Amino acid sequence: QATFIVFIFLRRKLFTLEEYEEYKRKVLPIRLRNRLYVSWRSPTGMDCKLVGPETLCFCTHRYKQHKTDYEVIPRDRPICVPCRVSHCPCQSYHYVPLNGTQPVRCRCKHFADEHSAAPGFSCNSCSKCSGFHSCFTCACGQPAYAHETVVETKEERLAQGKPVGQDVPYAAMGGLTGFSSLAEGYMRLDDSGCGKFQRQTGSIGVGFKTDFFFFQIPGYQHGPSLSKSILWTF
Ligand SMILES: [Zn+2]
Ligand SMILES: [Zn+2]
Ligand SMILES: [Zn+2]
Ligand SMILES: [Zn+2]
Ligand SMILES: [Zn+2]
Repeated sequence: QATFIVFIFLRRKLFTLEEYEEYKRKVLPIRLRNRLYVSWRSPTGMDCKLVGPETLCFCTHRYKQHKTDYEVIPRDRPICVPCRVSHCPCQSYHYVPLNGTQPVRCRCKHFADEHSAAPGFSCNSCSKCSGFHSCFTCACGQPAYAHETVVETKEERLAQGKPVGQDVPYAAMGGLTGFSSLAEGYMRLDDSGCGKFQRQTGSIGVGFKTDFFFFQIPGYQHGPSLSKSILWTF
């Protein structure tokens, strides 16, 4: 049986052995324990969008550019995931849907990205807008404005019977829990589907110490043309 192997490299920067040990001791357990799940939820309770590392925020920055690692998860709800890009006024990740590849329009007729990412989401292009409000209809049948961006913990998701996937040490995983939730080509991270999830530690090249995960997907041909590597920013 031919096998398709996908490698996911966890690190692409050089770590000294001390940094690596420090990382394994400090960051990894926090990430596994304190992962935040981010989704865009319909009033029907359905997660219409599971936010992943590359998913854009209303502020035009990606989820991974926001503060996604918490040493201690805040007690207050909603949990704020502020943008870390300097001078960005975004105070918490806020998903905004696309209309195909186009940004959606506000009822003031201006596009989402013409609005300020500061609280209130006022329009930069007109003075009649009372804050971004999109009537764009989601595939679930509900208007965009009726949805909310939800940031929650594993326990909070489990309590609602929502999938949480496997514990992973990647940064900014947001709501990605499985193959079905893949946007932008991410791999499934639960073990309920077509690939067997395996973990190995090794090194690639000189001084490039890395952990990597790979999937073996039965039925696909393994060859250079079909092999894919995905670099995860860390
Ligand atoms: Zn931002
Ligand atoms: Zn943002
Ligand atoms: Zn507006
Ligand atoms: Zn406007
Ligand atoms: Zn929806």
